[in-house]
Amino acid sequence: MKQQTTMDDGPIDLPLPLDRPEPAPQCGVCAALTRQGAEAVAVGDYSKASDCNIEIRNHPHRGRHRS
Ligand SMILES: [Zn+2]
Repeated sequence: MKQQTTMDDGPIDLPLPLDRPEPAPQCGVCAALTRQGAEAVAVGDYSKASDCNIEIRNHPHRGRHRS
């Protein structure tokens, strides 16, 4: 059987907001981005949510592993 390439077949390019980075606890920028991402998801703007996640992940902090 030959499979057709459909959009329902493989979720390759879907920017699913499942892979959420951990925002730094005391970083206002990360907190704002987290909030923006959540709001974007709420309105179905997963592209923007993904952008927020990327920004959080790339946001530089002095200590990387704080808890
Ligand atoms: Zn930050």
